Amino acid sequence: MANSTNFLLALENVSVSFDGFKAVNDLNLYIDKGELRVIIGPNGAGKTTVLDLICGRTKLSSGSIKFNDREITRLNEQDIVQLGIGRKFQTPSIYEDLTVFENLEISFPRGRSVFGALFWTRTSEIIDQVHAIAHMIFLDKHLNSPAEMLSHGQKQWLEIGMLLIQDPELLMLDEPVAGMSVAERAKTAELLNEVIKNRSVIVIEHDMKFVESIAHRVTVLHQGKVLAEGGMDAIQANPEVKEVYLGH
Ligand code: ADP
Ligand code: MG
Repeated sequence: MANSTNFLLALENVSVSFDGFKAVNDLNLYIDKGELRVIIGPNGAGKTTVLDLICGRTKLSSGSIKFNDREITRLNEQDIVQLGIGRKFQTPSIYEDLTVFENLEISFPRGRSVFGALFWTRTSEIIDQVHAIAHMIFLDKHLNSPAEMLSHGQKQWLEIGMLLIQDPELLMLDEPVAGMSVAERAKTAELLNEVIKNRSVIVIEHDMKFVESIAHRVTVLHQGKVLAEGGMDAIQANPEVKEVYLGH
């Protein structure tokens, strides 16, 4: 059994059943500090469910999830966010009526008290952070545009920015380039290669060209289990992987 001390995130023997169906089946998954892991696998393999388990949205039936060597299995979603795990869902959840600046500003963490939330001031620290993140997500020319004016890809970047401004130690993205143009995909790869400098990232993705441009290691999920794990070359050459996934 691996020693979880070396990992940022460790899932061990994790299972979850929905009405008797094992969507995740005795899964072991270890993510290093500073690693960008991509999870691939056919539809229904359990990829999104794994993220739901890590962020506390779905409770596991058995097993253990440790973050920084601390058991997070029974914590609620908000406490898991506070520990430094940020998660982006498949559909962007931004405030369409607010500007890019305002979307980033309201995502800036400013304490948990009611007073903190009501009477915050626009400090230079917040303004600097908003500008730094806007630059990273290619939206520094759009700070004053309402979010509804952005392209689909720009909205995805904005939501990533809203997570980045909270400075999570682990960022999880579910199919971030779905619906993006080829140029937007390339820029998203550039963004993730920048993001990874201070944190770990888990990305679920189908686009193999995109996966190739970002992944340190790839985990292939199939029927709620790890079918294969390793570098991109080994994964693409793996006959079992070809059969269940890449061949389609
Ligand atoms: P993927 O993201 O790999 O396409 P999912 O994790 O979304 O797969 O789903 C894995 C399986 O679990 C699917 O069969 C799905 O229908 C089922 N499932 C996921 N979430 C729930 C839920 N909350 N209730 C019941 N079944 C679910
Ligand atoms: Mg999914």
